[in-house]
Amino acid sequence: MDVSFVQEDRYTFRIPRKGKMRADAVFFASKRILAHLESEGYASLVQLMNVATLPGIVEPALAMPDIHWGYGFPIGGVAAFDPAAGGVVSPGGVGFDINCGVRLLASGLERRDLEPRKAWLADRLYERVPAGVGSKRRDVKLNRRSLARVLEEGAGWVVRQGWGEPADLEFIESGGRLEGADPGRVSERAYERGLPQLGTLGSGNHFLEVQYVEQVYDPEAAAAFGLAEGQVTVLIHTGSRGLGHQVCQDHVQKFLQVAPKYGIELVDRQLAAAPIESPEGRAYLGAMAAAANYAFANRQLITHYVREAFEAAGFAPREHALRVVYDLAHNNAKFETHGGRQVLVHRKGATRAFGPGAPDLPPAYAAVGQPVLVPGDMGRYSYVLVGTEGAMEKSFGSSCHGAGRVLSRARSKKQVKGRDLVRELAAAGIELRATSRRTVAEEAPEAYKDVAEVVQVVEGAGLGRRVARLRPVIVVKG
Ligand code: 5GP
Ligand code: MN
Ligand code: MN
Repeated sequence: MDVSFVQEDRYTFRIPRKGKMRADAVFFASKRILAHLESEGYASLVQLMNVATLPGIVEPALAMPDIHWGYGFPIGGVAAFDPAAGGVVSPGGVGFDINCGVRLLASGLERRDLEPRKAWLADRLYERVPAGVGSKRRDVKLNRRSLARVLEEGAGWVVRQGWGEPADLEFIESGGRLEGADPGRVSERAYERGLPQLGTLGSGNHFLEVQYVEQVYDPEAAAAFGLAEGQVTVLIHTGSRGLGHQVCQDHVQKFLQVAPKYGIELVDRQLAAAPIESPEGRAYLGAMAAAANYAFANRQLITHYVREAFEAAGFAPREHALRVVYDLAHNNAKFETHGGRQVLVHRKGATRAFGPGAPDLPPAYAAVGQPVLVPGDMGRYSYVLVGTEGAMEKSFGSSCHGAGRVLSRARSKKQVKGRDLVRELAAAGIELRATSRRTVAEEAPEAYKDVAEVVQVVEGAGLGRRVARLRPVIVVKG
């Protein structure tokens, strides 16, 4: 497909609607990111144009600067649909790892307190947080009935078991529980896959990282978030594990069957969709919210393990209190009000980035906007941004979710062949613990864009503002 776009300002590009597109598409990029997209034959922009063909889309279809190729929708994609105008929901617009997201914890420790006990803490974390392909949960007794409650109650269920504090819930997007969860729409196979995996990190891109705040850019927002230079933080990245994956798979199959009945033409089968206001659409939304709640619960339980690990590493109670700064999803679909109407916003590899005064912000953040957590890679840095008015106006209150890949897993593996990444990172002061060498090779820092560049585009386009930069000290990978 011919991809032609016009540059609107330094970082904003528009693809005017044509052919079957029902809306324009807009993406945000720097010169270098644009060159990278071109080198891939604009495959991910073609995906974005495909998204714009879906019924009920609210102008425009959007992509963040961490855009890369994904299943149906590009990763880094944001698309809003109007239920009153036949708008659809598409599992491919949410992603397989439903409600995958990141949670940032702030400790009472300084970098210098951590340094002498770094390796020791890395071992305790690696011991306590189950990681790796098919990793199994520990301690928690869970049966089908209690799992159904997790699916309804999300992170709150975990806190009520004693694994966390009620205050934790206040600092999770949507309070750690999406409305409308319907555990009855989750298949038996999904239950089976989810049962052993609550409180597990998973593999690959998922990680647990201990960091320190290297630089503060916005002292006012940093103070509101309780972040200061030198402070030790923890970033947890995981999602809904096999349960969410199964929910996605089940409903893609279903939607492919019913799309013709609703007159939905799919330019790509991976865009399988059903009207929001249809029994099938409702069923997926109910199952999706249930899987989202599993993901919130998962990050809550892992937080508990992380707190235990800090305690086991000999840090004092105040130091391992590990306050939740924020827990932010980057794979979901949510009903929100934009431009005066209620729309279903799909964010796939994109995060919510609500500005000052927006709904659903913890009171402590209402005046500055919500934290936007942007992981980079295990060797360089990650960022904390704050949501802005600009995001509310231009991107349905959304921003980027990471650096985004530049190398496929296979190419990354090939490129680092023969190198000892564990040693390289150790030389740079980073303790890496991983269950598989393959994961390490696939997740090499150079497999990702420089997140500083992505963040520069986001800030330049007015979709977020830098608050702080975080440097890794310990990385646990599946
Ligand atoms: P995704 O959810 O798309 O798999 O990953 C989100 C982002 O996490 C990626 O785009 C990448 O920038 C970032 N990332 C992947 N691995 C690591 C890691 O080990 N540490 C940090 N800080 N970021 C990572
Ligand atoms: Mn994930
Ligand atoms: Mn993710």
